[in-house]
Amino acid sequence: MPVLIFFVAHWYLSLFVQTFYLHRYAAHKMFTMNRFWERFFFLLTYIAQGSSFLSPRAYAVLHRMHHAFSDTERDPHSPHFSNNAFTMMWKTKDIYNDVLNRRVEPEARFEGNYPLWTAVENFGDTWMSRVLWGTAYVLFYIAFATQWWMFLLLPFHFLMGPLHGAIVNWSGHKYGYQNFDNHDKSRNSLFFDFLTGGELFQNNHHKLPNRVNFGVKWWEVDPTYPVIWTLDKLRIIRLKKVRA
Ligand SMILES: [Zn+2]
Ligand SMILES: [Zn+2]
Repeated sequence: MPVLIFFVAHWYLSLFVQTFYLHRYAAHKMFTMNRFWERFFFLLTYIAQGSSFLSPRAYAVLHRMHHAFSDTERDPHSPHFSNNAFTMMWKTKDIYNDVLNRRVEPEARFEGNYPLWTAVENFGDTWMSRVLWGTAYVLFYIAFATQWWMFLLLPFHFLMGPLHGAIVNWSGHKYGYQNFDNHDKSRNSLFFDFLTGGELFQNNHHKLPNRVNFGVKWWEVDPTYPVIWTLDKLRIIRLKKVRA
């Protein structure tokens, strides 16, 4: 039981920081927050993603490229230019590392207006940090796993951040229905997106990239939106006026 609780908790916490902080805040700036909360959620992103921590800056740059070049050859992760989800992940990883280590210079329009914390970013990308987190997951499983098959869940923990990205980018541009014609292949994969925190309403999101609620129809439930709404009411963040 502790193993399953740990798996579900890690899945959803890691998903939350990806959709709330990396995607909706770092890449799109759908809301603002003061420096204390920006650092708080930066640190939470590092802790939640652990061994697969993604830099908010590199995530934001790649994601802005994705919106600009959606489903074209210049899209960093379109399923229509890779044979399978693993080759797509690998290609995305290479572009991510080039941007992260400043080996390529992204177009100026993709840069700026994202949270920066060099110390955490640099440490989070070291092998020491990644291996320490990985070891902690293994030790937890050694202590609490009651069945051998539970150890098969470990790779999910190691790669949680990129895995969520791959599920969303593969499925969200391949399977499901479309509310809007966005001149790309973005789709809404689920009616109730509890598995990926609203991220699989890709078709809605590409049409309305500044809209904080990814559900558009009354029956499309974006479970992250009520959390964001509450954080706004608590004045931890300030939602921007919707321009969409
Ligand atoms: Zn997309
Ligand atoms: Zn987006």
